[in-house]
Amino acid sequence: MPRYCAVKVCRNRGGTASKQEDKRISFYPFPLQDKPRLQKWVDNMKREEWTPSRHQYLCSEHFTDDCFDIRWGIRYLKSTAIPTIFPSIQDVCALSSFHHTSI
Ligand SMILES: [Zn+2]
Repeated sequence: MPRYCAVKVCRNRGGTASKQEDKRISFYPFPLQDKPRLQKWVDNMKREEWTPSRHQYLCSEHFTDDCFDIRWGIRYLKSTAIPTIFPSIQDVCALSSFHHTSI
């Protein structure tokens, strides 16, 4: 069962990033047990009135590097990490046109 990023404008899903080993996409479940942090995640996604399920994930693209701890070559999301990188609609348009021209 592939994992999908819960961000609507984000096209990342499990198994599609294998071409770029140095920029591997990871998926992280929402902190459903930690309500204050969960609220910050949802606020940053600009999706009020929405509660993610435990089957939904955010991909690593939405977190800055300092949200991660790297131990023994494995990247862990810190327990305090808040996703802050969300493309605006304009960015998405730029990105999708970029993808079109690059294919
Ligand atoms: Zn994503």
